Amino acid sequence: MYYFDYVEPVFRPPSEARSLIFQITVGCSQNHCRFCGMYKMKQFHIRSVAEIAAEIAAVPLQHRQQYQRIFLADGDALVYPQAELLQILDLLAENFPRLTRIGAYASPNSLTTKSVTELAELKKRNCGYSISVWKVVTRKR
Ligand code: SF4
Repeated sequence: MYYFDYVEPVFRPPSEARSLIFQITVGCSQNHCRFCGMYKMKQFHIRSVAEIAAEIAAVPLQHRQQYQRIFLADGDALVYPQAELLQILDLLAENFPRLTRIGAYASPNSLTTKSVTELAELKKRNCGYSISVWKVVTRKR
């Protein structure tokens, strides 16, 4: 179900078929893997916490009860700045009472933007949900 306008196309792993998707970044911060054309048409940018908060507010209250999983798009959403990412995770936890898991794609580069402590912080945040790394890719040299 769509509650807001996505910047298409939006990709998610098959296992996230029932997840509500929030597009916290648009495109891929790398976007130069030769084998991948997923985000070539998009100019990478990070969307603001305010934009995501407005989208959360657009989800009807009754529907928020239904979602147990949320996926953060686009290509390597883990690159999102840590402090603001924690704000988004807190907003999601506050607004989706049955939330058990939050997933996101992570490239090797986006992983290097987080310390071990920061990754642990994401995993342990509030209600026991966890950030899952769904793909690891190599870049051309
Ligand atoms: S990091 Fe992933 S999404 Fe980005 S260009 Fe490479 S394969 Fe595609």
